[in-house]
Amino acid sequence: MKEVVLATGNAGKVKEFDSLLAPLGFKVISQSELGVSDAAEPYLTFVENALTKARHASEQTKRPALADDSGLCVAALGGAPGVHSARYAGIDLPDRAQRDLANNQKLMEMLADQTDRRAWFVACLVWVEHPEDPLPIIAQATWAGQIVDTAQGNYGFGYDPHFYIPNLFKTAASITPEEKNRHSHRAQASEILINELKVRGYLTSASVSPKRAS
Ligand code: IMP
Repeated sequence: MKEVVLATGNAGKVKEFDSLLAPLGFKVISQSELGVSDAAEPYLTFVENALTKARHASEQTKRPALADDSGLCVAALGGAPGVHSARYAGIDLPDRAQRDLANNQKLMEMLADQTDRRAWFVACLVWVEHPEDPLPIIAQATWAGQIVDTAQGNYGFGYDPHFYIPNLFKTAASITPEEKNRHSHRAQASEILINELKVRGYLTSASVSPKRAS
């Protein structure tokens, strides 16, 4: 069984990626199980941060590694909060719900006079086979929406209550987790990753569905 180290200590993400990759024949190991410390994320882009985290985990564990980075980019704010999405309000509150509330309050303040409400959720997944891998798999996807002033919906997390998706006529917090998993930036990036894992021949033959006869 091919092993991959997840460059995160976040139990929710480990669970999410395990359910994506275990059926494809991968043994997913969290970097914290192997004693890997969190890498610094000093860069301006999701891809640079994810690549750094993946290389760091692979270097420390001598195994292939997968990292992710995600966030919200708002057109009228020059792409902010971007890589700072998790701590946009600048306060390191331990409680996630309080942090989300503070981040959304700041977003509302920043957009108070703005009529351009275009925004994108971004997810970037990076897979390296080894720390110096010159050809990492980079799977980046965006989910387009508009930031609305009134929070709507009780599902989801983060900026979901203010992220309105025009073709669904709902915010990301008003759709069920199953529906979000069909449309979201993370779902799209996961699909790109899996396709590329297939192209590279990293999936076991049992996990690749046979081509339909035409
Ligand atoms: P990270 O990828 O764990 O660094 O977190 C990125 C931050 O971006 C989260 O804490 C949220 O604030 C925001 N974010 C990323 N994806 C989503 C999403 O699907 N819904 C709402 N907020 C998100």
